[in-house]
Amino acid sequence: MSARPPHIIEVAIPLHLDRTFHYRVPPGLEGQILAGRRAFVPFGRRRLTGYILGDATEPPSHELKDILEVLDPDPLWTDNELEFFRWVAAYYLHPLGEVLKTALPAGINIQDRKGGSRSGDVSGGRAVKTEVVYRAATPAESAHHLGNKAAAILEVIGEAGDIPAAELRRRFGTCSPQLKRLAELGLVTGETREVYRNPFGDDTVERDTPRLLSPHQQTALDTLCTALDRHAFAPFLLHGVTGSGKTEVYLQAIARVLEQGKNALVLVPEIALTPQLVQRFRARFGHGIAILHSGLSDGERYDEWRRIRRGQARIVIGARSAIFAPLAGIGIIIVDEEHESSFKQADGLRYNARDLALVRGRMEHAVVLLGSATPLITSLYAAEHGKLGLLTLPERVEQRPMPTVELAPMKGVATAISPLLAPALEATLAAGEQAIIFLNRRGFATYLVCAECGAPLACPNCSVSLTYHRQRGQSVCHYCDYAIPAPGICPACGCQELKELGAGTERLEHDLRELLPQARILRMDSDTTGGKGSHGRLLARMSDGSADILVGTQMIAKGHDFPGVTLVGVVNAEASLAMPDFRAAERTFQLLSQVIGRAGRGDTPGRVVVQAQSSDHYAIQHAVRHDGDAFYRQELEFRREVGYPPFTFLACLGFSGTAEKPVEEHAEAVTRMLSQLKREKGLRVEILGPAPAPLYRLRGRFRRQILLKATTRNDLRRLIAAWRQNRTATSPIRESVDIDPVDMM
Ligand code: ADP
Ligand code: ZN
Repeated sequence: MSARPPHIIEVAIPLHLDRTFHYRVPPGLEGQILAGRRAFVPFGRRRLTGYILGDATEPPSHELKDILEVLDPDPLWTDNELEFFRWVAAYYLHPLGEVLKTALPAGINIQDRKGGSRSGDVSGGRAVKTEVVYRAATPAESAHHLGNKAAAILEVIGEAGDIPAAELRRRFGTCSPQLKRLAELGLVTGETREVYRNPFGDDTVERDTPRLLSPHQQTALDTLCTALDRHAFAPFLLHGVTGSGKTEVYLQAIARVLEQGKNALVLVPEIALTPQLVQRFRARFGHGIAILHSGLSDGERYDEWRRIRRGQARIVIGARSAIFAPLAGIGIIIVDEEHESSFKQADGLRYNARDLALVRGRMEHAVVLLGSATPLITSLYAAEHGKLGLLTLPERVEQRPMPTVELAPMKGVATAISPLLAPALEATLAAGEQAIIFLNRRGFATYLVCAECGAPLACPNCSVSLTYHRQRGQSVCHYCDYAIPAPGICPACGCQELKELGAGTERLEHDLRELLPQARILRMDSDTTGGKGSHGRLLARMSDGSADILVGTQMIAKGHDFPGVTLVGVVNAEASLAMPDFRAAERTFQLLSQVIGRAGRGDTPGRVVVQAQSSDHYAIQHAVRHDGDAFYRQELEFRREVGYPPFTFLACLGFSGTAEKPVEEHAEAVTRMLSQLKREKGLRVEILGPAPAPLYRLRGRFRRQILLKATTRNDLRRLIAAWRQNRTATSPIRESVDIDPVDMM
């Protein structure tokens, strides 16, 4: 008997463990390509689904067990993709098994595996959907005596080549007897084939053709095509004002990629909010587009994932998780609205898809295109320093002017709609044009305050006040959904009189209806967009002109293109400046510029009224003047002074628990340990805190955080890694590590 060395593989387990594990491949499973497939493995006293990374490269550090089963007939990931995931795990200091789990569509994970017996097919836990398809067998001879219906069915099958049974039933009603007879006569054959659930349904789109580009668009495209022809990593920032035709540049760059036989990955902030963008892609390219986002059912997402893996989709459009799409041969990765904070995942694996686009693009030797009218300060800085190629579209297409913007001071004004905005609205409606009114706060009143003692109604679980929603008749917490009947009584003193303070979109809609009774008004915020497809329906009513005014939160600022909108009103422009976040000015500038940019995108020039209690802040002043460059200079100086990105790198360590004292003590102990490790290793990291998080209580948990700042990423990562190796394993305190944090609330 020859003693062959055992075949040992490395497996990542989706648990909170900073390491991978070794397993032996039992005889019988040897010889297959195992990397990139899932395996069912014994783990302690449990059996789990793990992810095979490849052959072990180091000697095993623990006792070896056999894997029980290989779960996928084909690898889920290529070696390149696994390398990308390893990078992600190392960078975000997150267990590789958890990273791989995050990267898979929800529908694929095998659900019930208790007791080791498995239900469901091997390629996934979710049933594969099938349909019966009929096709004409031999050239149809008319020798047979067929009834009229059977003859008609045969003719349709003959013309179609092959046709699903469901389609025949739609045209002919019940037709099983006829189909059975046709099959018996050998005239048609029926077979079962796998189908993909189609997230577009039966909805079809009219095709369009590439537009003649403006000179600026052409220059940008030429630069991109030159880079594409080199088949090497090349990152670009496409800085184009609102309405400058960035999407057309994307479309034509992708056309080049497809000609080269390569594929395109397009990341958008939120697909539900951008149905127009998806439509434009479908109009240009027709089939071969896969979409991935959280609004799909598990089955749909799983099908899209398989289509991509099998090379049946050439263009993948998706929200942040699409950065993990199993797309091979990537020629270009586009990140639209690259400044959007929704590219950052807020919990679990806290990755930023915008940043990972650059990483994956480098590994795939692809072009990466970050597009925005209001790029991140850090992106502009990178472009200024040659790390991103800069492409600019400084003008709107067809020389349309930027809208004129007026400031409406609100000091001493009692109405929500200013004396400047009200007549502008009337004039817009009289001219048969449309308006958008933006207020970044939903609900009716901002909150209710006791008339006696002045205490606001606060959430018992979170350190925020409750928002009054009149239609629902409730005061609601926007963080944990705690709700009580409203108005109600003051919990502090029992007084029955509560005053409404501040206004939300619900209130604004109410005021507008009083001001303009004939106007057809839509409201778009997270209260009106709960159902599937509700965004799309609201947006469609603006597009087809069956609504006059769209009122909404920041959802209405997201890249929509309504040529009929000539007036934009901004209510409470300074609201977002109050956020306790060093990016408050940047966010405000972006938001205002984006909202302003919704006006005058058609043939008629646009007008904007910006209402503010005080408009001195540079974020408002520069947005009103369309002066992104001046904003960038001023904001960069501020960042330099306070030592924030792009001049430093950040990480945020979060701690939470249901009792306050232990959280506080734990955060302090961690801070002491970090200081000690920093000294021992000579790392240059500034340790700030621990401090209560701005939302110091959330969903019943007390929260503290430590902010780490450094001028090199490496020192930051080494410090956190050292802490994680030294930390005590069990603690009732929940810990989180956020590399390059975006939201530090
Ligand atoms: P952005 O994304 O930069 O805000 P869009 O891509 O939405 O701008 O383009 C604005 C509008 O201009 C769209 O309706 C688009 O179809 C149109 N457009 C884009 N490029 C051209 C062009 N070269 N000629 C004419 N119209 C164009
Ligand atoms: Zn709450």
